[in-house]
Amino acid sequence: METERAPEDVFGLLSDEIRLDILRTVALAQQEAQKTGIATLSFSEIYDRVDVDNTSKLSYHLGELTGTFLRKQEGDYAFTHAGEQLVRFLLAENYRSPESFGTIETRGYCLYCGESALEATLHEQYFFVRCTDCNRPAFSYRVRPAQARARTDSELIESVIWEQAGDFVKMRQDVCPDCAGDLDTGVIDAEHVAVPDSVPVSFATRSECQQCLRFMSVPLTHAAAYHPESVAFHWEHGVDIMGTGMWELHQYLLDGTWTAERTAKDPVEYRVELRRDETSLRLYLDDAAGVKRTERVQRRTQRERRS
Ligand SMILES: [Zn+2]
Ligand SMILES: [Zn+2]
Repeated sequence: METERAPEDVFGLLSDEIRLDILRTVALAQQEAQKTGIATLSFSEIYDRVDVDNTSKLSYHLGELTGTFLRKQEGDYAFTHAGEQLVRFLLAENYRSPESFGTIETRGYCLYCGESALEATLHEQYFFVRCTDCNRPAFSYRVRPAQARARTDSELIESVIWEQAGDFVKMRQDVCPDCAGDLDTGVIDAEHVAVPDSVPVSFATRSECQQCLRFMSVPLTHAAAYHPESVAFHWEHGVDIMGTGMWELHQYLLDGTWTAERTAKDPVEYRVELRRDETSLRLYLDDAAGVKRTERVQRRTQRERRS
């Protein structure tokens, strides 16, 4: 059954303790069932578990939730996508503020001054990496309360790294990490963004979700680095791209290991070169940051160059 409710009515449905209790009850039933299928609860099963005065009252509340947060399946009740998403949000208490985690020293280099003096703090609810030498920001990413809770400093950094890696893998395929809607991705000239000349970024991607308005932007080199060919290439050379923080990858821009350039204008083509030991991986991208082809090139050694 498709809900015809307006957004304000959808949220209005939730300002009731019994209804939230019903949603938690279905989540617990799903967990207890320990099965991969969809947990469904009958009216009487819900009545047994939820603190409600009488069956007509429960019937009323179930009727209100059904169509938006619950759906009927062969007479029993199961979550809709919205119901499941909402109950997980409630159980994780992600409506609270993340707990502060003090200051954590972290690896990586500042793109502005090149110093390896980064530290992470919780700033305005974000995981915020800052250079202690020039005081400029190096990276920031959202931290959800459930993520910051009960984790050590190093575990928290790991969780941020895997969160962003998961997001970038989806972003590469134009799938919004938040709503799974269509991302509109393009490549922008770093000259046109407010980046100082000293920062070694020539091109960046710009992805925007047409539905939920999520926005993401990364250096073109970094976006290309998440391509499977690059992940494999780096893995073979001892670098785990997926398990490395974006702020740690900046060192490859600073030391010239990673470069990006525009190689053609009509149609537009970009070439990202990722060097490792004596080998280079070249990725050719179009104006939507899609990788069209890749090639591995053996670089000449110093000795060969001299001879
Ligand atoms: Zn700095
Ligand atoms: Zn979205």
